[in-house]
Amino acid sequence: MSSLDHDQRLHPSCRDKTTVTSDSSDAHELAKQPLQGLKLASHAVLEEAQQKGRLKCSKCGGSRMFFCYTCCSLVGVTPQDIPLIKLPVKIDIIKHPNETDGKSTAIHAKILAPSDVNIYTYPCIPDYEKEKMVLVFPGPGAVSVQDMMQCLHHQSDSKSSYTFNEPRIKRLKTEEVQGATHTAENPESGTPDGAEGLESRVFPLQRVVFIDSTWNQTNKISTDERLQELLRVELKMRKTCFWRHQKGKPDTYLATIEAIYYFLKDFHEHCLAQEYKGEYDNILFFYSYLHSVVNKAKTSAKKC
Ligand SMILES: [Zn+2]
Repeated sequence: MSSLDHDQRLHPSCRDKTTVTSDSSDAHELAKQPLQGLKLASHAVLEEAQQKGRLKCSKCGGSRMFFCYTCCSLVGVTPQDIPLIKLPVKIDIIKHPNETDGKSTAIHAKILAPSDVNIYTYPCIPDYEKEKMVLVFPGPGAVSVQDMMQCLHHQSDSKSSYTFNEPRIKRLKTEEVQGATHTAENPESGTPDGAEGLESRVFPLQRVVFIDSTWNQTNKISTDERLQELLRVELKMRKTCFWRHQKGKPDTYLATIEAIYYFLKDFHEHCLAQEYKGEYDNILFFYSYLHSVVNKAKTSAKKC
């Protein structure tokens, strides 16, 4: 528990939520395929904890299963029971204050990668250096993860009002990009300890921002002037399998944890230029388990 406790002291603003109930009332037809074949730690510990039922969080007294979404701490499982993931980039998640407690998947990322993930409650967000950050958010002007690094190089070179449609010609741009690729192919770069050094030496990207709220609420956050200037990155052709799929929204609108997972996968393949071998699959450790619980509940409900 120590690492989580420590991290929480560092980031007292971390207050987020999700749920572990198998509420499938608003579930849509679930797409099972994306969660097949993940390299995950054993779910046996979660099955055992689920058998015991909800327990009181030792910090706030709330009734929780697996973890407390208010305190960002584990409940009924120990840190040794769950995977600890080191990410190749820092992740900030900005959540909407009105988001219903317990429904967000952002907390999964904070618990599984505590040293690389921070959660902020809007409007309390850090000041960002736009040359070193991207916002994962779809819409006009958003670029793919493949194009992201090149756009960031343009930005950090120009340091002025760069727009994607009017790229300035930059000397050594090609060499820089190639250099990044070559360095990334260094075997050491794939190790967690090497990632940060690599990032600061070669990659302009230091932090990736995600917005965690229902899609109807995201507009207010994404139009905030502090986020307006960030390069936007869009994850294309990914379909959600979230059981709380939002009515009327296309199934390419991902749950926060899905978006983080797909971003990391694309980043690994296209920016680190390495074959993806499931390095970050465990970011879906809780999500995939809860997904299977909801699926089972739905199946048994149909039999009744
Ligand atoms: Zn708590």
